[in-house]
Amino acid sequence: MLHDQDLNRKCPCGSSKPFSFCCEPAVEGYKPASTAEALMRSRYTAFALGQVDYLINTTAERYRNPDDAVILSEQIQATTWTGLEIIMTEQGKAEDETGIVEFIASFEAAGEAAQLHEKSNFRRENGHWVYVDGEVEIRPQTA
Ligand SMILES: [Zn+2]
Repeated sequence: MLHDQDLNRKCPCGSSKPFSFCCEPAVEGYKPASTAEALMRSRYTAFALGQVDYLINTTAERYRNPDDAVILSEQIQATTWTGLEIIMTEQGKAEDETGIVEFIASFEAAGEAAQLHEKSNFRRENGHWVYVDGEVEIRPQTA
């Protein structure tokens, strides 16, 4: 499944760890994210790599919609993710049931660079962290 050259590839989430030691175990489904921040990072990575199923599976059940796969696929095709910065986290640790992660994700769409600033809510569902919702602000990138 993995090629040798992939083992040292830096993770898209910007952690500077190799992908195989960072988000890959979560995105590939063999080791669920242990904290809200790890889940958030893995979802960013899944957006960057186009892993639609992972994004749906890590959304809280009551926030899933039948057309999620189509909408996510369109978003992924239209967007190039260029960086992630974690601003702060509240709770979301191994012993918590809820967590908040605030972050700025940089992206390009339709030739324009922009930033998505989001304060996301996460909770545990069936023992695993899932994304609930968030306050989102999108603004043009200031050079
Ligand atoms: Zn990562």
